[in-house]
Amino acid sequence: MLVTITCPECEAEGRFSVVEQTYDGPYKCWKCRQMFYIELDGKTLNTCRPLDDAEFERLQQVEKLKRKFNKDDED
Ligand SMILES: [Zn+2]
Repeated sequence: MLVTITCPECEAEGRFSVVEQTYDGPYKCWKCRQMFYIELDGKTLNTCRPLDDAEFERLQQVEKLKRKFNKDDED
C-alpha cells in the first residue's frame, strides 16, 4: 500500500510504501532530508517527530530485522 506523507518541515509530499496496515518506524523526506519517526494507522499519520542521525540509523536496523523476521516466521 502506498501512503502519502506530508513533511512537516518543508511540506513536500512523499510516497511511502508500507507492508501492513500499521507502520511505525523511520521516514526520510526526499526533499529537505529531514528524518522522522512516524506512526501510521492505515493512511492516518498519528505521530511524526524529527530524529537525529543516530536514532534514525538505529530505527532502520530495527525495521530491517522486523521485516526479516516476518518473512521467516508468520506468527
Ligand atoms: Zn521535507
